[in-house]
Amino acid sequence: MTKREILVTSALPYANGPIHLGHMLEHIQSDIWVRAMRMAGHRVHFVCADDAHGSAIMLRAEKEGITPEALIDGVWKAHSADLRDFGVAYDHYSSTHTHANRELTARIWLALKANGHTESRPVKQFYDPVKAMFLPDRYIKGECPKCHSKDQYGDGCEVCGTAYTPADLINPYSVVSGATPELKESTHFFVKLADFETMLKAWLVARRDAGGLQPEVVNKLQEWFADGLRSWDVSRDAPYFGFEIPGEPGKYFYVWVDAPVGYLAAFKELCDSGRNGLKPADLERFIAVDSNTEMIHFIGKDIIYFHTLFWPAMLHGSGLRTPTAVNVHGFLTVNGAKMSKSRGTFIEARTYLNHLDADYLRYFFATQLGPTLADVDLDMKAFEERVNSHLVGKWVNIASRCAGFVHKFFDGKLAASLPATETANYADAAKRLSACAALYEARDYAAAMRLIVEVADTANAYIAEHAPWTMAKDESKRDALHVVCTLALNYFRLLAIWLAPVVPATAARAFAFLGEEIAHFDAAAQPRLDAAINEFSALATRIDTKKIDAMIEASKENLQPSAAPAATAAPETTKPEAATISIDDFARLDLRIGTVLECGFVAGSDKLLRFLLDAGELGQRQIFSGIRAAYQEPEKLVGRKVVFIANLAPRKMRFGVSEGMILSAGTGGGDLHLLDADAGAKAGMPVK
Ligand SMILES: [Zn+2]
Repeated sequence: MTKREILVTSALPYANGPIHLGHMLEHIQSDIWVRAMRMAGHRVHFVCADDAHGSAIMLRAEKEGITPEALIDGVWKAHSADLRDFGVAYDHYSSTHTHANRELTARIWLALKANGHTESRPVKQFYDPVKAMFLPDRYIKGECPKCHSKDQYGDGCEVCGTAYTPADLINPYSVVSGATPELKESTHFFVKLADFETMLKAWLVARRDAGGLQPEVVNKLQEWFADGLRSWDVSRDAPYFGFEIPGEPGKYFYVWVDAPVGYLAAFKELCDSGRNGLKPADLERFIAVDSNTEMIHFIGKDIIYFHTLFWPAMLHGSGLRTPTAVNVHGFLTVNGAKMSKSRGTFIEARTYLNHLDADYLRYFFATQLGPTLADVDLDMKAFEERVNSHLVGKWVNIASRCAGFVHKFFDGKLAASLPATETANYADAAKRLSACAALYEARDYAAAMRLIVEVADTANAYIAEHAPWTMAKDESKRDALHVVCTLALNYFRLLAIWLAPVVPATAARAFAFLGEEIAHFDAAAQPRLDAAINEFSALATRIDTKKIDAMIEASKENLQPSAAPAATAAPETTKPEAATISIDDFARLDLRIGTVLECGFVAGSDKLLRFLLDAGELGQRQIFSGIRAAYQEPEKLVGRKVVFIANLAPRKMRFGVSEGMILSAGTGGGDLHLLDADAGAKAGMPVK
């Protein structure tokens, strides 16, 4: 076998919110691959980072009243802990906001420039006159110029998949303030992608033929070449949280420039640290055009073109090596549907870990993951059934049924040798399972798990046939019992070796029980004989349905209405009148007029709208209101006046803090109507 040296990366989680199970699908997929390749004897370096730049980070930090650095630092700590506790063992988990990344991004940019692959020209771009900033692509929405879907982002249509610039949108509006953006001119910098058309076409085909790109990905990309590649706008004007372009004050690299460079920057930091047997000079060895190392990216299908067009073009154009492979996976659904906060299926990594063992999800994902772009469904019933039946029932139970006899009758030692039949049985199982190495490498984990279950069935059939619990009652069958338990425990060991990339923590406990450290698939070739084992203690327990239910409950958003009190009431025909109150009671309510600056849907919530109100002397207020069913086009509320309670204690919700309550009339659901105020009422005026 040729020993390969491979740099593996996962897509960078955005430093704007917690990691959820959708992210975990990818981190687990790449982690399993890395562990399997290492157990096959290859040298692998595994890095990732938080994607920490962009307007979204800047605006959120502003809203929270902290610096962007403080925001991304807190998120980095949470992300790192979540990934670690899921057993995703990055050699280095960094951030794109590092010195190393600033340097590498500048180096690549300056090389592109020196090689004539950049240009600059004035661009008319949308500007938010209320917020006094140029609007990033994701902060302008409007109608897709191609398929005419409404409310599409400025950088591409999520319905038809077309990429375009914000200027192409029909009827654009600012997501920041709701204002109609104005076109304003500014100089922008571009990478001339047309320079790379020939190179990219050849690269795509070569990578596909070498197994480094899935055929469906390459087919999808062919569409991009139909009209020729447009130059890629890689600059953004201040204010922006990112890296300033060298020599161009006030101009910043678009986040998608320094994000993929972040893979290399994280690796540079690993090289500089001296860990993994690396040294600082190894970075150049990896990124040289003629490098004999590999660079493999795992990504989701939503970011294909950044990784298979822009990224290889940037690398090639700056005289560096291109990726060896870009492995694309599908999206995660839960119980057959898109993850939903209100159904409790938008599950954060930490919420899962608070209730269930990380290896359970790793195993279940492995049973579902193949080499294609197909979506993966986390069906909770199937999840519970498979973990209980496969991991616990078919695998762990082998050890729990046989270990006791070895300690009771044989001094805790496995037999010194096996008879011919048992030797052949072991060799057969080992040979069947050896196919898993290639299946792991091909990312066909589902096929590997099927093979493992088949061999586990063979093992359990052997145990059932010989019934060691019956043999144990007959003193004349001690030797035979020793043989049966020794083979059974070797089946268990064999399965542990091949399951180790998927369930690393459980496998580590299994190896500790067996009294050995195993880091290589080669250990599966020979059975373990004449060796002491340790006392058995439960390696994994069955999933209790209650724990899944509790996790779902914990994931459900706290949907107390922050809107009309009526929203909580069932739609009754008549309601009893409230008891009387004094004028002083009424005076305790600080009712105010607010002008709607922003109003939009809340991702993952079926009930809420998020309002940003101009509250006059009180500043701006963010309020979540449960009136979505009644207002299907929230953007139309921008500019109108509402009445809200200003002195209600702020309430922390999953999406942010709600600072008040907007009043509406009605019985709830779709029957809710905002109150209005006559023309003279101004934002912040008290309502008495
Ligand atoms: Zn479209």
